[in-house]
Amino acid sequence: MANFKDVVFFIQDAFQTRDFIPLHAPKFRGNEKRYLLDTIDSTFVSSVGAYVDQFEDYMQKLTSSRRAVAVVNGTAALQVALRLADVKEEDEVITQALTFVATANAIAYNGAHPVFIDVDIDTMGLSPTAVRVFLDEFGELREDGCYNKSTGRRIAACIPMHTFGFPVHLNELIDVCEKWQIPVVEDAAESLGSYYKGKHTGSIGKIGTFSFNGNKTVTCGGGGAITTDDPIIGEKAKYLTTTAKKPHAYEFFHDELGYNFRMPNLNAALACAQLEQLEEILASKRQLATQYCNFFSEQKLLFRTELPETKANYWLMCVECADKTERDLFLKYTNEAKVMTRPIWQLMFRLPMYENCQKDAQTNAKYLEERIVNIPSSAR
Ligand SMILES: *Cc1c(COP(=O)(O)O)cnc(C)c1O
Repeated sequence: MANFKDVVFFIQDAFQTRDFIPLHAPKFRGNEKRYLLDTIDSTFVSSVGAYVDQFEDYMQKLTSSRRAVAVVNGTAALQVALRLADVKEEDEVITQALTFVATANAIAYNGAHPVFIDVDIDTMGLSPTAVRVFLDEFGELREDGCYNKSTGRRIAACIPMHTFGFPVHLNELIDVCEKWQIPVVEDAAESLGSYYKGKHTGSIGKIGTFSFNGNKTVTCGGGGAITTDDPIIGEKAKYLTTTAKKPHAYEFFHDELGYNFRMPNLNAALACAQLEQLEEILASKRQLATQYCNFFSEQKLLFRTELPETKANYWLMCVECADKTERDLFLKYTNEAKVMTRPIWQLMFRLPMYENCQKDAQTNAKYLEERIVNIPSSAR
């Protein structure tokens, strides 16, 4: 078993403190205050303003997407992305059970049903092989798309999630989904700054979604973004998230059910200041990951690193314990020593609202659920 005492000392040294060390804390070392004061001086603090446009522009450039739309948070981004992918009530959406609850909730908000398919051990994200096996058994192609033979419902979308910023095997997944005519919506909430074969995560599927919550790689307090290369979907994303109002100088007319999911200009100001420092923050996290990697290779704990042909953002770094017993001891020891560590999420089908959802054997998800622990990962 690993020497937990050495682990705690190592992390305390890395962060140069004996006080409480959080899992992930934001850093505000750029133009945050200047831009925030600027929005107040301009009076444009709310849902329109120059920083919202600038943020969207920045996200377009970063992800090389034709369109980025700012929204109020990552969950709302995913909710709307599914509607843009034409997910309707009583449809089904394939996703992984090993994820943060927002992924499954976004499906439920659309009145659709999650179908939980296993993850790969190496990426911790949705497994193309498992999706293929499921569709070979249950899929049926009809005129208007793929149907699930066991439930009679349409499988309207597939959401891979890039766990902790490690990209899933996207090419293989997109191949399977294309064969079954299922659009891919990437939940890239955790993977800002992560690349798959040279392309930014979230820009490869039909639609991508991002989060700028306080615990993410960069933050604007609360915020999200939808990205796409399809100009019609991009335009519709803006329209739906701004109450679906027909443009007019003074008349109010809304021709479908829209949402007030706009990102306030105040938050966008913070987002712009943070995005200016993205490279610096990623470099700092990568340096920490290298230190961890060297240290843990001497310990009997597996530190997770990026796979070939991918670049991870090292959002939340993690180790893989030998078994659940070691994991529980590790969590207890480190947290008592004021070094924050946390187990990976409980699988979605364990939550009361998702316990009756269809799922496969979940062998890999259950394996990881018992072993993966996040360790302090802030930029320094
Ligand atoms: C953070 C997160 C979201 C959504 O984030 P918000 O807090 O709503 O901005 C969605 N999916 C995953 C996997 C996340 O980690």
